[in-house]
Amino acid sequence: LLLASRAPRRHHQGMAKHSEFRLIDRLARATRVPRRDVVHGIGDDAAVLRVPARHELVVSMDTLISGVHFPENTAPVDIGWKTLAVNLSDMAAMGATPAWATLALTMPRGDARWIDAFARGFARLARQHNVALVGGDTTRGALSITVQAHGFVPQGRAVLRSGARVGHRVYVSGTLGDGAAGLALVQKRLRTRNAAAVKFLRARLDRPVPRVGLGVALRGIAGACIDVSDGLAQDLGHVLRASGVGAAIELSRLPVSRALRAVGVDDATLQRWQLGGGDDYELCFTAAPKHAATIAAIATRLRVPITDVGRIERGDALELRDNTGRPVARSRAGHDHFA
Ligand code: ADP
Ligand code: MG
Repeated sequence: LLLASRAPRRHHQGMAKHSEFRLIDRLARATRVPRRDVVHGIGDDAAVLRVPARHELVVSMDTLISGVHFPENTAPVDIGWKTLAVNLSDMAAMGATPAWATLALTMPRGDARWIDAFARGFARLARQHNVALVGGDTTRGALSITVQAHGFVPQGRAVLRSGARVGHRVYVSGTLGDGAAGLALVQKRLRTRNAAAVKFLRARLDRPVPRVGLGVALRGIAGACIDVSDGLAQDLGHVLRASGVGAAIELSRLPVSRALRAVGVDDATLQRWQLGGGDDYELCFTAAPKHAATIAAIATRLRVPITDVGRIERGDALELRDNTGRPVARSRAGHDHFA
């Protein structure tokens, strides 16, 4: 491309410069969240940000690609929400308080209506968590959205994947399998006349609620923590590897939403969605048994269901057990883009 074109390039794979500026301006105005630690936000060559004393900066990035991470026909307002939600979910998993976000936006054309709707979804969640959009990049190409989230933890207090110990209980927040059920509805692999269930399950897919408050509350309580984005089996597997331990999970304890129960899928499908489905954005964490009462109190205070689903054990295996303690074979692993 460089050799073929002798005309000076207007902008690095960008949109026409004026429309790009207009779009950025719309985005900046629609998502404005005032924060005193933003010394210089959108508008200069880079943002200037102030990290609080005796804290560490926690940074995560997630890309959403149309047709891969969300169905092509997803509403732009939901894309805006979800793109920030998945990143705040990573903040939650670290026990970090989110503060800032940057956004790399690539889209086929400079569509102001799309930007406005996207910004509305993004801003709604950003305001809930006082997250300021402080910069980014805007280019033309197939629709792809990358958000980087930035948050803080007091020094040395981040909750890692490597902190699970033999004897810890394994907990999950919320319910599992809803994201996979939502996707099955979109793809018409699942059909039901239960309109309330459809609404709930679609919302779980399109507008996941990151467990930010829970993540912060678990600092000093959880040994290890991860967010469930690729299915419990795979994500808990990361914790087990990082910690050098195994776990036994009791299948009948995995929390199921009323909506998912109501659509009436068979046990094998339910198990596959709960263990191997993606997009639940719940937290899975481990904690010593002595913290059980504290964890119950956190669940009540935050109004987030927290379920004890099993135990960390010696070894390196993830064992699934039925309610009599007998091992059960697993039907399928979690989502892997390169598998
Ligand atoms: P430069 O060419 O110097 O990189 P840009 O024109 O890309 O500048 O960006 C101008 C300003 O707008 C910068 O502050 C940048 O961070 C911000 N910006 C660009 N795109 C986005 C976006 N998608 N979201 C948020 N801020 C953006
Ligand atoms: Mg730039």
